Amino acid sequence: MLPPLFDSHSHLYAEQFSNDLREVVRRAKEHAIEHIMVPGENILSSQTTINLCARYKNVRIYAAAGIHPEYAGNETARLETLHDLVQSPQVKAIGEIGLDYYWMDSEKDVQQEIFIQCLGLALKTEKPVIIHNRESTADMLAILRDWVASIPQGNRLKQCAGVLHAFNGDRDIMEFVKQNSFFVGIGGSVTFKNARQLQEAILEIPLDKILVETDSPYLSPHPHRGERNEPANVRFVVQKIADLLEMDMEEVAKITTRNALELFHIEGVK
Ligand SMILES: [Zn+2]
Repeated sequence: MLPPLFDSHSHLYAEQFSNDLREVVRRAKEHAIEHIMVPGENILSSQTTINLCARYKNVRIYAAAGIHPEYAGNETARLETLHDLVQSPQVKAIGEIGLDYYWMDSEKDVQQEIFIQCLGLALKTEKPVIIHNRESTADMLAILRDWVASIPQGNRLKQCAGVLHAFNGDRDIMEFVKQNSFFVGIGGSVTFKNARQLQEAILEIPLDKILVETDSPYLSPHPHRGERNEPANVRFVVQKIADLLEMDMEEVAKITTRNALELFHIEGVK
């Protein structure tokens, strides 16, 4: 039996799971996934996520609350509500938040404004951040650099500030993560044949900077590419990282789970 695995990014409230979530969670448990972080994308999904946490006892489910850049345009007035939500003890992180210049559902300055406000909320509550970034790396890193510099001594984000989810192997991001108290989230794309840049990056990032994730229901790893993704599949990501590093899968499982527990300040787990 594998050591416990931690899927650090799964959208369990997605409609793709509405018919069989119980089965999905059971299968996760069957494959040693003991922890699942579910990031919200707006006020509604953040609230749904908090409710989900209590519903399953066999796997520990945690919530992140945040406003995804896709929703930045229509959530401006509701930051107050987010402020209340993140106080819940189930909420272990602020996310997912960030920038997305690919879809551009709202203007850059609107996205940046919401992103910066959410980062401020993280600082105040001392909860780490889960960052979404698509074709916005330079602006995202500039904002994060300023934010990291503003973390005061004694704030627990000094040790573990957040995770850059869905890492694609970008060198600037890799350097940022190495130099700051950040992790990268590695997902199913690492198993794809054409993912050379990412696979090479795995050899350069210390394993104690890596979290594993599915981003389910999206981005299913090989050999399930194209199907609905689910937390049980995070084992294929762990296996691929182990292969690349020529390590035992058990060892990669142990270290990546420890990293996630540390980042999200989850205590009382052996
Ligand atoms: Zn996501």
